[in-house]
Amino acid sequence: MGTSDQELSSAAVRPLYINGQWRQGSEAAWADDINPATGLAFARIAQGSAADVDEAITAAHAARTAWAAMLAGERAALLLRVADVIASRADEIRDIIIEENGSVFMKAPWEVSYAIECLRVAAGLTYFVGGDTFPASAPGQLSMTVRQPLGVIAGIAPFNSPFLLTIKKVAFALAAGNTFVLKPSELTPLSGLVMAECFEQAGLPAGVFNVVPGPAEVVGSRLVADPRVKMVTFTGSGRVGRLLAAQAGALMKRFTLEMGGKNPLVVLADAELAYAVDSAAFGIFFHQGQVCMASSKVIVEAPLFDAFADAFTVKARGIRVGDPRDPATVIGPLIRPQQCHFIAGQIADAVAKGATVLTGGQFEGPYFQPTVLAGVTPEMSIYHEESFGPVTCLIRAEDAEHALAIANDTAYGLSSAVITNNLQKAFDFALRSEAGMVHINDTTISDEPHIAFGGVKGSGVGREGGHVAMEEMTELKWITVQMGKRAYPF
Ligand code: NAD
Repeated sequence: MGTSDQELSSAAVRPLYINGQWRQGSEAAWADDINPATGLAFARIAQGSAADVDEAITAAHAARTAWAAMLAGERAALLLRVADVIASRADEIRDIIIEENGSVFMKAPWEVSYAIECLRVAAGLTYFVGGDTFPASAPGQLSMTVRQPLGVIAGIAPFNSPFLLTIKKVAFALAAGNTFVLKPSELTPLSGLVMAECFEQAGLPAGVFNVVPGPAEVVGSRLVADPRVKMVTFTGSGRVGRLLAAQAGALMKRFTLEMGGKNPLVVLADAELAYAVDSAAFGIFFHQGQVCMASSKVIVEAPLFDAFADAFTVKARGIRVGDPRDPATVIGPLIRPQQCHFIAGQIADAVAKGATVLTGGQFEGPYFQPTVLAGVTPEMSIYHEESFGPVTCLIRAEDAEHALAIANDTAYGLSSAVITNNLQKAFDFALRSEAGMVHINDTTISDEPHIAFGGVKGSGVGREGGHVAMEEMTELKWITVQMGKRAYPF
C-alpha cells in the first residue's frame, strides 16, 4: 500500500525516538501505518536499522546510572506526571488506537485508562524496591539482600492492545530504575511513539526511553543480541516467543514471555444461563477475539449444553459488526484481511472433520462475523490453535471432571474460567486448572496492572504487573557485613 507524502499531513509522519531526539532512521526508510478498517495508510513511520538500534541501546546504557540513582520519589513523581499527560491527551490517544489497531470505541479508552492506572501503580512501587534481612550465619554477621536495577531492558510488543501492553512493560521497568528500548509491533508503531511523546512531555531525561520501530527481525534480533541489554520482555505469538527464548537463552539473558492461549471457559450445569452466555460472549467477542485471554473454547456440562448453544447463538447473531468508530459496534476489523483467510481455513478444516457452524463463519474484507462452532474435537486444528478472531468452539462435557480434562487438553496455559455456584467444584477447577490465571464466575479476560499476569505451559515464562514485575526487572544481590573478625577454621 503506497501513499505519496502529499496525502499525509506532517503530523502523520513519525520519526524514531532515540536519546530524546526525534529523527529519521539511518537508512532513511519509511513504512506506511495502515488503518485496518479502511486498508489505507494514515501515518508513515521511520524504520530503524541495526545502526539505529545500536544507537538507542547506547543512549539507554548511558542514561542508566543517573536514572537508577534518582530518588524513588523523583521517579514516582515523573511517572505520575506521565499519567497526567496521558489523561490530558486521552481522546487523541483513543482515536489513534482506533485508527491504528481497529479497536472498537469501547476498547480503546479502556487501554488509555489502564495505562494511567498502570503508571500510578508503578509510581507507588518505586518506594518498595527492597530486599530482606536474615539471621546471621556466623557470629557478628549482618546478612541482607538488596534489589538493583538490571540496566537496559528491551521490550518487544504485539499489535493487539498496543498502548496497554507496552505501558505494562515500560512503567515497571522505569519504576525499578531501568532504562528501556521499545520495538513496537510493525502493525501498530504509532502507539509506541505517542507513548514516548507523553514521557517526553512529562520531562523524562534523554535516553531513558527509546522507541525504534522497524523490520521485526532486524530490530528484534539486534536488541536480543546486544550484551548491554540485560533483559528482553516480549509479548506476542508462541512462534516468535520461542525463537526469542532460544536466542536469549543462548546468551544467558533474562527474559519474560507473554504468549498466546486457547483459553477454556467452563459452564457447569448449575450456572445461570443468561449470565453464562453474556460471560462467554464478552470472552470471545471483545476486541473481535484478538485477545490472548479470549475464551476460544467454551465447555458446557451436558445438561445445559443445548440450551446454552441456542442462547449463545442468538446472542452472537445480535452482535453488531462494523465501523470501529461507532460506539454501538462490538466487532470491528481484524488487524489484516489475511487473518480472516487463516480463520476461514480453520473453520473449513473443522467442518470437514464434523463440526457444525451454528452462526457466522463468513467474512467480508477485514470483518469476520461472530462465529460459533459446535462439535469441535481434538482432530481439528481449531481445537488446539489460537484463532485470534471472533470464533468460539462449543464443547460438550459429561461432568465437571470431564470439563476440567478438556480445559487442560491444550499446549497453552494462560487463562481459564468456570461458572458455577458450587464452591467446591469451583475451587477444585481453580486449583487443578493448568493456567496461570483462573477466574470463578467470570470470563477468561481480566487484566489489572497491580496483579501478576502471565501463563504456564506454552503461554509463557514469567509474570508482568505489580510488585512481581518489579522483581522480574531487578537483580537480587546478597550482601553480608562481618562486624569484628570471623573465626576461620585455618
Ligand atoms: P507476533 O509474535 O507476530 O509479534 C509480536 C512482536 O514480535 C512484534 O513486535 C513483532 O514485530 C516481533 N517479532 C516478530 N518476529 C520477530 C523476530 N524474528 N525477532 C524479534 N521480534 C520479532 O505477535 P502479534 O501478532 O503482534 O500478537 C498476537 C499474539 O500475541 C497472539 O498470539 C496473542 O495471544 C499474543 N499476546 C499475548 C499476550 C499475553 O500477555 N500473554 C498479550 C497480547 C498478545
